[in-house]
Amino acid sequence: MSVRSAIVIGSGFAGLSATLELQRRGVAVRVLEAADRPGGRAQSWSAAGYRFDLGPTLLVMTDLLRSALGDEAFDALALQRLEPGYRVRFADGASFAMQSDIALVLQEFARFEPGRASRALRYLADVHGAHVDARSRILERDHTLASFARTILSPGRIRPWIAGSLRAFTERYFHDPRVVQALTFQPLYLGTSPLRSPAMYALLPVEEMVGGVWYARGGTGAVVDAFVREAQRRGAEFAFDTRAERVEMRADGGVRVHAGATSYDADALVVAADREPSLGLFGDEAPRGRSPRYGHTACVWYFGLDAPVALDHHTVMLPRDPWGAYAHLDAGRVPDETMLYVCNPAATDPSVAPPGGSALLVLAPVPNRALAPSLDLDAMRERVLDALEAQAGPLRGRIVVERRRGPEEFERELGLMHGAAFGPDHTLDQMGPFRPAIRHPRLRNVVFAGSGTRPGSGVPMVVISGRLAADALLA
Ligand SMILES: Cc1cc2nc3c(=O)[nH]c(=O)nc-3n(C[C@H](O)[C@H](O)[C@H](O)COP(=O)(O)OP(=O)(O)OC[C@H]3O[C@@H](n4cnc5c(N)ncnc54)[C@H](O)[C@@H]3O)c2cc1C
Repeated sequence: MSVRSAIVIGSGFAGLSATLELQRRGVAVRVLEAADRPGGRAQSWSAAGYRFDLGPTLLVMTDLLRSALGDEAFDALALQRLEPGYRVRFADGASFAMQSDIALVLQEFARFEPGRASRALRYLADVHGAHVDARSRILERDHTLASFARTILSPGRIRPWIAGSLRAFTERYFHDPRVVQALTFQPLYLGTSPLRSPAMYALLPVEEMVGGVWYARGGTGAVVDAFVREAQRRGAEFAFDTRAERVEMRADGGVRVHAGATSYDADALVVAADREPSLGLFGDEAPRGRSPRYGHTACVWYFGLDAPVALDHHTVMLPRDPWGAYAHLDAGRVPDETMLYVCNPAATDPSVAPPGGSALLVLAPVPNRALAPSLDLDAMRERVLDALEAQAGPLRGRIVVERRRGPEEFERELGLMHGAAFGPDHTLDQMGPFRPAIRHPRLRNVVFAGSGTRPGSGVPMVVISGRLAADALLA
């Protein structure tokens, strides 16, 4: 059956990417979204003149946004490269600027490890080379086991270091433990413990340094809006407050999605809601298979303050003993001293807050609900504010607006399995063809997209996922 119409469940970046790709190839799309607004994890929220991105704030690999949106809509975003991309602050008071310009990157390495520029260059060249290769040959393809094996075993392709430990790999190039710490926490972006992370995730900091960290005026919400506008311009219909409850396969081979008293028909279906919780939509037709192991998640606070905050746009605060903190997380406990990520967009874009104010997002990694069903997040708030005030001065008295999203809210509000903000863990045994599949095993006109499937979590990866899902439907 040729696909002329499709339903996409979920309007996060995966669903929006699948929508644009299907439209580009002549398919009429209807998007069903349970929430009252688009974006999923990338929703934005406004209150009392403050505007927050609730989820993604660091934009990388932005060429993927360009290829999804098209040149005109992408250029209208007028993305700005942040310099530095972010600053890593250490417990000893020193800080490492993650520059996003290669000349400045080398200067920064030299500040910590004088006279070793050739090692830093070697590191950048080794990791970047592997990243370029992995991106086109692995990340942007929906491999079968056989095609995956052929790809990694083809002559000249084997780079055994990729599968070794990230820490050991990074220590081969750098001696200052702070530099190693600044280049190894990034797997937590994917919910993966730096202690369990393969060396291939060195590509995360290297991509930030080489490709840059970007900001869209108006925040990530402006990028979501651009995707929705572009999809609507091409004729997509969006139904918000519309939760898909059941999928029925019609006798003529098409699909029918039931949502409350309404049902929607189409030739094909993209499920871009979190994959595992969505399997229940299919009743007896649900794909079977073992549940993946989920990664760490996050507790996020949003603080609107009536004062400026002396922090860069993005700051990562590392505890005295980051490796000990990661071990605590892996054991299902919240470390006493945790890593914090703070986004202070008013440093670049004053429109996020009333004049003179700031709109902070403060994120602490925490175990998912399967590992730690309940956490004392009120006590954690005080520790987080103590750590923040130690770096940025008194803040508690300046808070005007406050909201929190922890594992429970990720599960309840966004339907995420175990409240895991970044989906199944990104260890070697759950990558590529070992990650839950894009294709439904029996229904040829049903596919999955998003961080619960391939290639993984993060805006760039789920944008790829939406495209791979559209490819699979139209193959
Ligand atoms: C706090 C946080 C910070 C992050 N920071 C970054 C970052 O800086 N950079 C980065 O690249 N990535 C970041 N990420 C990861 C990134 O946000 C996600 O990987 C990505 O947005 C996931 O998109 P998705 O489309 O797969 O899923 P989602 O965004 O979760 O979208 C799924 C959608 O499906 C809807 N839905 C669910 N069930 C149904 C149903 N039955 N019927 C209809 N609709 C349904 C949901 O409401 C939701 O809108 C962050 C994530 C979080 C949570």
